[in-house]
This record gives sequence, C-alpha cells and structure tokens, in this order.
Amino acid sequence: MSAGIPEAPPVLGGDRVYRIHWVLGTDRLRAVCHCGSERIFDDPVELWEWLLAHPDGHESVTVPAPSPEPAPARAPAPA
Ligand SMILES: [Zn+2]
Repeated sequence: MSAGIPEAPPVLGGDRVYRIHWVLGTDRLRAVCHCGSERIFDDPVELWEWLLAHPDGHESVTVPAPSPEPAPARAPAPA
C-alpha cells in the first residue's frame, strides 16, 4: 500500500475569490484579485489591504510572472 500524493482540491470560482500565492524561493506573496489584477507584496497586511480595497488600484496593474529564464522559442519541425 503506497501513499500517493493526494489530488489538489478543486479551485473555487466566483466574483469574490481572492488568491494568494507564495512566490517560491522568496519571502514575497502574489495577490490575485477576483477582477484579475495581480500584485506582489512583501507584507501580508499590505496585501490584504490592497485586496480588500478593490477596486482601488486594481485597474490594469499586472505584474509579470517571475520567469528568469524564458523558454527558448522552438523552430517548427520540418515536414
Ligand atoms: Zn480587484
């Protein structure tokens, strides 16, 4: 009998769902509002103040995902 990794629970949807991601390898948190805005925070208090202040400061404030090494573009394989 092996203990496998349990599946993640289903992700909730809706218009009042906030997501907070811990940015791996850092002390930072990424907040995702239900409106789609994202912001990186060091302080969880500031994070919640920003989330709960919706829509203040939420208009098109997007933070690019931390990707230090972009995937190399692949040339299409010859037919
Ligand atoms: Zn928002």
